Amino acid sequence: MSEYVASLMAEVKAKNPAQPEFHQAVEEVAESLSTVLDRHPEYRKAKVLERIIEPERVIMLRVPWVNDQGEVQVNRGFRIEMNSAIGPYKGGLRFHPSVNLGILKFLAFEQVFKNSLTTLPMGGGKGGSDFDPKGKSDNEVMRFCQSFMNELQRHIGGDTDVPAGDIGVGGREIGFMFGQYKKIRNEFVGILTGKGLNWGGSLIRPEATGYGAVYFGENMLATRGETYEGKTCLVSGSGNVAQYTVEKLLELGAKPVTVSDSGGYIHDPDGIDSEKLAFIMDLKNVRRGRIKEYAEKYPNATYTEADRSLDHNPLWNHEAQCAFPSATQNEINLKDARNLIEKGVYLISEGANMPSVPDAVNLFVEHKLLYGPGKAANAGGVAVSGLEMSQNSLRYSWSREEVDAKLKGIMASIHSACVEAAETYGTPGNYVNGANIAGFLKVANAMMDQGVV
Ligand code: NDP
Repeated sequence: MSEYVASLMAEVKAKNPAQPEFHQAVEEVAESLSTVLDRHPEYRKAKVLERIIEPERVIMLRVPWVNDQGEVQVNRGFRIEMNSAIGPYKGGLRFHPSVNLGILKFLAFEQVFKNSLTTLPMGGGKGGSDFDPKGKSDNEVMRFCQSFMNELQRHIGGDTDVPAGDIGVGGREIGFMFGQYKKIRNEFVGILTGKGLNWGGSLIRPEATGYGAVYFGENMLATRGETYEGKTCLVSGSGNVAQYTVEKLLELGAKPVTVSDSGGYIHDPDGIDSEKLAFIMDLKNVRRGRIKEYAEKYPNATYTEADRSLDHNPLWNHEAQCAFPSATQNEINLKDARNLIEKGVYLISEGANMPSVPDAVNLFVEHKLLYGPGKAANAGGVAVSGLEMSQNSLRYSWSREEVDAKLKGIMASIHSACVEAAETYGTPGNYVNGANIAGFLKVANAMMDQGVV
């Protein structure tokens, strides 16, 4: 670690105690940027990175609501408005009991670079609540979303801050929040993305993150003259990102064999085909059940319960060529990374945000795997959110084919931006450096143009 990064990190840790995920995200970016900052002392002088690390605004809100038993509940809500140098704040809302300030700051920080990579004019933000939608009735989820929006509506806006979904926030939650915004403000404006199709949503938005991660992997494979045809793929998670990752992999001739939820994972040696995927989608999106039921329905598959006392996740210990972590942060530790490599995996395209711990990332880079970090590989979701904003402004909808073609084009340009930046700054093939540098430069130059604000 350079002296500059060491002193920057000491300050970040002192100023932001008890935010380990935020420290982790900042350190990775700061290390990637060493050469850039050496070659461009003007960024150092203007303290551009120091400014990017500090959110422009952090909003914390009380979210009171009443459950079905008539009892008052109190949750904590957040919106981190991280950086608006290249456009309105943009980034998802996460509803999960683990949500806290540090996790949302890491996500908002990553979002700044990701949004910059998409080529679209979007700044970075993130938000959410420690509310757990699991086990709640639709009415409880609605009351929570309405209460959350009662306060959030003051801070967001089509040209200010445009949230979207993330873990625990899908079409249902976006609908409830949009309805409440419209009721309070008496205006029909694109203040959220991921909306329903007949009220301002974009085709391909639900699919975009998963499809995009697969397209990013396709671009990486193409650098070695390969395709997905016949490749076995490990996928974690069984939510929005995982489902559409599996769908696109099937379309491109690959064989996905795993999916998971927080209770455990299934391994299906016959492959998850489209009929089985339809079962997963119904299970997760309609019945809101557990992935364990997959193995009851398809007896050739095995279900392995999550065991937090293990030093690794057995999902990452199956023969395969490709892996798509699509559940949550830090789900691949060093041992998992070793297992993946031993089992033949040489392509990792991250649907989730920061799913690999730093030692795992270093191992992938050392072994010269095709490793696509989340901020590049999963940028398809926010890219299509950006396209949803454009369609809302135009009051016009593009066809499925048009949006998919734009998504494909954006993922290809993110891929080439990463490749070029990695080469220019002396680390060819290193997508981590490539993504961090390419994402940083656009934001940094905008900040230099706009003065010290
Ligand atoms: P969903 O809520 O739809 O699905 C999340 C999945 O991951 C569920 O299967 C969930 O299991 C599992 N999961 C969540 N937290 C944990 C945990 N702590 N341990 C084990 N499993 C867990 O979320 P998304 O699919 O939208 O998001 C998945 C990842 O992709 C996140 O990292 C998110 O930040 C990232 N992402 C999402 C984008 C989007 O457009 N939705 C865009 C870019 C990135 P269970 O149901 O049991 O909790």
